Amino acid sequence: MIFGKHINRYYLKYAHMLLLGLAALVTVDYLQLKIPELYQMLINGMNQGFVMADGTRVTFDMTFLLDRICMPMVWVILAMVFGRFAWRVFFFGAAIRVEADLRDRMFDNCRNLSCEYYQTNKVGSLMSLFTNDLDTVQDCYGWGFMMLCDALLLGVLAVIKMWNMDPLLTVFSMIPMAFLMAASTVVGRYMMEKWDYRQECFSRLSDFAQESFSGIAVIKAFVKEAKELMAFRKLNLENEKANVDHTKASVLLHILVGLFVESVICVILGYGGYLVYRHQFNAGQLVEFIGYFNAVIWPIMSVAELIDMTSRGMASLKRISELLDAKQTVVDRPGVKELENVRGDIAFRDLNFRYPDGEYDALEHVSFTIHAGESVGLVGKTGSGKTTLVDLILRTYNVPDGTVFIDGQDVNDVSIRSVRAACAYVPQDNFLFSDTIENNIAFGVPGGDRRAIANAARLADVDGNIREFQKGYDTLLGERGVTVSGGQKQRISIARALLKDAPILILDDSVSAVDTRTEDTILQNLSQVRAGKTTILIAHRISTIARMDKILFIDDGKLAAMGTHDELYASCGAYRQMVDLQRLEEEGGEGNG
Ligand code: ADP
Repeated sequence: MIFGKHINRYYLKYAHMLLLGLAALVTVDYLQLKIPELYQMLINGMNQGFVMADGTRVTFDMTFLLDRICMPMVWVILAMVFGRFAWRVFFFGAAIRVEADLRDRMFDNCRNLSCEYYQTNKVGSLMSLFTNDLDTVQDCYGWGFMMLCDALLLGVLAVIKMWNMDPLLTVFSMIPMAFLMAASTVVGRYMMEKWDYRQECFSRLSDFAQESFSGIAVIKAFVKEAKELMAFRKLNLENEKANVDHTKASVLLHILVGLFVESVICVILGYGGYLVYRHQFNAGQLVEFIGYFNAVIWPIMSVAELIDMTSRGMASLKRISELLDAKQTVVDRPGVKELENVRGDIAFRDLNFRYPDGEYDALEHVSFTIHAGESVGLVGKTGSGKTTLVDLILRTYNVPDGTVFIDGQDVNDVSIRSVRAACAYVPQDNFLFSDTIENNIAFGVPGGDRRAIANAARLADVDGNIREFQKGYDTLLGERGVTVSGGQKQRISIARALLKDAPILILDDSVSAVDTRTEDTILQNLSQVRAGKTTILIAHRISTIARMDKILFIDDGKLAAMGTHDELYASCGAYRQMVDLQRLEEEGGEGNG
């Protein structure tokens, strides 16, 4: 059983199931303690020929055996089977629901966390929270709750029965139990540390595996399989060692429990035998007493299990809580308005931006205005700040007040949702889901009709490619389906953005993997379909953006120049140098060809 900020609420939410489970458990425990009484009657009946039942002496014969021992035993066993089934259904049913609720909340929180969180927390670690840690918490909630209730109920009931038979023998039996409790507390604490470390090692292993699978092409191309294997082995060894350490502590705890239980049996046999010898007990009573102690063994054993489970559960819950408590850093201010009927004006006013973990400003004193309907090219060296700039339009990060405006409204005064809804974005790493091509294109506009989807694909010059697939738009992509080329991926992503038909379209290096003829077709289509709507295109090839209404030339985080291609070529030396260099490279390439 575990308690904590994020789990307490579920004891209340599922109280009805826990109470029903508890009722079944009480019944089972009560009936279980009837069995030693039946043993006692059987043994005394066989030894003495009579049985003391309800204060009267009854002859032990076949009728008594069947009516008072066998039949009740059958009923007790049947009721216990039914009761055990019932408590399992209620306790484990509640635990499964808790797991599902927690998973929903975790995913919901993940959905709202900023990109910053995902840059510092790797996918493998997150996945282990959703698998290993959630499993442990579920175990702890269901099994743990049941064990605690059972240990308390059965333990207390059995000890009362033992006490009524002989208080001194009961005290002797319980002394080793006190030592067990003390030892278990110490070992339990140690085990929690070990479990925490074990989960950490497992997360590192998952991270590494996940990254290796994602980067398998690079690993193979650089013939680094052996290096990766060695690194994996090292992490696996660490994980194995952490597992062994935890298991050692767990085994130690179980051995301790076994030792104490055996020693109590010795005490009962020794002192109980002495009582029989002194005629204070008869053989049937000693068997009955041992029967009660047997009933206590499970609660005692479960104390060890409970400590082990709780320590694991607490460590896992702590890790899950870190995710649930993770701050959403990019959030709406209270009372923000919705950005409505967006025209597509964008303005930056003296913006300075530094990444939350950055050591220098990625953008410095950036000021420009893009009028609604303009097509704008963003160029500059790698790392100059182009992606950062468009990320800020999309409100991926927080920006200072009075620096970024859409349609004249400060982005901090309008909801993030409405800003993003006004934009269609093709990121640099075009991500496609493991779904059909149709659903991938329709991602931003669910329920988009096939004609509109095909039209968007035509504009992105990928319709022909898609039709060549055997299943056309129903072709599955990703792990269970086909793998498309880098260029096709880019064009499917462009189609996805075009289908959204947003007032602002942002393409981040989105035509880099297509040939110049295809690029031309896409650019021509864009100029037609985006007429009157704002389009921002980040590109490396000058030919891609030369015909744009406006070019922003970014150099080392600063806006070095702004204007048409001809204006920049005439007025900006650095831009001219870049254009000439590219031209030379192209001519060189053609010459070589
Ligand atoms: P470009 O798109 O022009 O290639 P970026 O906008 O991606 O350049 O990067 C601009 C600068 O910001 C670079 O120096 C880069 O290292 C840094 N940068 C980019 N992303 C992050 C981030 N998430 N955290 C810290 N620094 C970043």
